[in-house]
Amino acid sequence: MSHAQPASDSVLLDVRADFPALDQSVNGHPLVYLDSAASAQQPSSVIDMVAEYQAHDHSNVHRGVHTLSHRATEAYEGARDKLVRFVNASSRSEIVLTSGTTESINLVAQSFCRPKIGPGDKILITHLEHHANIVPWQIVCEQTGAELVVAPIDDRGQVKPDELRALMTDDVFLLGIGHVSNALGTVNPVKEIVRWAKECDIAVLIDGAQGVPHMNVDVQDIGCDFYAFSGHKMFGPTGTGVLYGREELLEAMPPWKGGGDMILEVRFDGTVYNELPYKFEAGTPNIAGVIGLGAAVDYLTNLDLDRVAAHEHYLLSYLMDKLGAVDGVRLIGTAETKASVQSFEIDGVHPHDVGTILDHQGVAIRTGHHCAMPVMDFFGVPGTARASLAMYNSVEDVDRLVDAIDKAKQIFA
Ligand code: PLP
Repeated sequence: MSHAQPASDSVLLDVRADFPALDQSVNGHPLVYLDSAASAQQPSSVIDMVAEYQAHDHSNVHRGVHTLSHRATEAYEGARDKLVRFVNASSRSEIVLTSGTTESINLVAQSFCRPKIGPGDKILITHLEHHANIVPWQIVCEQTGAELVVAPIDDRGQVKPDELRALMTDDVFLLGIGHVSNALGTVNPVKEIVRWAKECDIAVLIDGAQGVPHMNVDVQDIGCDFYAFSGHKMFGPTGTGVLYGREELLEAMPPWKGGGDMILEVRFDGTVYNELPYKFEAGTPNIAGVIGLGAAVDYLTNLDLDRVAAHEHYLLSYLMDKLGAVDGVRLIGTAETKASVQSFEIDGVHPHDVGTILDHQGVAIRTGHHCAMPVMDFFGVPGTARASLAMYNSVEDVDRLVDAIDKAKQIFA
């Protein structure tokens, strides 16, 4: 990896005690949680905030005149304000609250692309993408006759920059690219990629599901048009997410879903839609979840994401060194620049068996295709075992993983 290796372990954080779910034994062993790329654990501050809202303030947002509705609205909209600052959006109009990255990307496919593309147009993605950044584009291409084009990767799991650039032709309407690959941990140089795309007048959506939990994200500095992410990957509740979109683009887009809250006036001869961002937020939202997401933003901001990144880079280097040295283990995904994820396979052992044996030892990893089947096809495997790190993991967690793998190897020897 290209990250400067810290001189000592002084960069390491010690926040495990903030996460109550980590304080338990699984199958007779203290839990080692290495599946944060699928869903990260939540700190007490998030759990308490949601419980407090449910116990005292629960009510519907926006429409009520009574005190509970005011409180709920204030907390819900307060979370949006925190998210504006968190990714440095220009205004609250640019932060659309969704159910997650998947919904955010589908919104852009259906509302931004579908009305504007047709035969002869292209949507460009890469071979590294999560299914959530593939299938919505396939659907919109089927609906419109546009073509889906895929930029290739190399055998370390990196997008080939020259080939990506060569595919940025005049007929490409939008580039959809992940910030960090969930299957391999590859970090894409998104700022540079956006610059290339902008030279060709191509809109860019970044799938930031694995970006925001691990590094500071400044959407204005990156220069992207859309940035999608999920609450549950960044230590918040499930069923919450964000679509950042440039105001000018969101303003010109038609609503995607119709219903309450996204309107100003409804008559049978026509409806006037609400202003941004509410135009894209039909129906009663996940109020408790969004308030919890606001608490997760507070937690991350107080901790400082640069410190989180340094901690995780240290641990990932340690994990790659230790795991790479185990006989019979093949690391899959060895990009120059990586964040927090390592896929691997063990000679002669099916990934699901690896996962099960590790679980018996209290070590939780993910196995399978990680919603990235094209990546698995590229490496010629049905799936991998994947360890993913977060700020609450430690050197001891990595050691426990390696010990558990040794045991798995003995069982299958
Ligand atoms: N994109 C990436 C890179 C992901 O890792 C994930 C989830 O694993 C998603 C998109 C989809 O996120 P969600 O299921 O929260 O919508």
